[in-house]
Amino acid sequence: MRERIGTAAVRAGRRAEDVTLVAVSKTHPIEAVREAIRAGQYVFGENRVQEAAAKFPPLRSACPTLSLHLIGPLQTNKVRDALRLADVIETLDRPRLADAIAASAASLGRLPTLLVQVNTGDEPQKAGIPRAEADGFIADCRARFGPALAGLMCIPPLGADPAPHFAWLADRAARHGLGLLSMGMSGDFETAIAAGATHVRVGTAIFGQREA
Ligand SMILES: *Cc1c(COP(=O)(O)O)cnc(C)c1O
Repeated sequence: MRERIGTAAVRAGRRAEDVTLVAVSKTHPIEAVREAIRAGQYVFGENRVQEAAAKFPPLRSACPTLSLHLIGPLQTNKVRDALRLADVIETLDRPRLADAIAASAASLGRLPTLLVQVNTGDEPQKAGIPRAEADGFIADCRARFGPALAGLMCIPPLGADPAPHFAWLADRAARHGLGLLSMGMSGDFETAIAAGATHVRVGTAIFGQREA
């Protein structure tokens, strides 16, 4: 996997170390994560706060360099736990969630790195701020969270050519001066790296198929 990432980066005129692999371990047992850590992988992604809370605290004590990204839709009532657990929350996608994060961060004294998730396909069922509201929301979050608001994330529509979605997101990040771009999964991470991804979220291609 790292070899494919490195090759894609170099082909795009970038350096392999500029792309971070987020190994998406959702639904896979803690033993699969331990095995990845033994192989030198320290950055992981989980969708659900509860699952992450069960898996990651014990791993952290054994491996302090571990970094956990929350990449699933986040309910406001899970925000406190999310802030305690995560190094990065990739799915800041609505004003009420920003309010909840700001309130919990103030009381916990802890604020992870935040990415705004944009619904680049404007799909009604999908999380993410709609494209038309993205600029205003990003600017508000920037003003509110300062440098903790570090980038953007998207999940292009299933079956669509992802390249225009990645290009749109990269352009938005550049306009707002944001350095992190989380885009690309097992099926399209090489396309995402060509478009400037700094983080690719890869599950199936590392851990195999998930149970339905
Ligand atoms: C599950 C998931 C991934 C990983 O998808 P794969 O196709 O298994 O690589 C990436 N990003 C998000 C937001 C996910 O929910």
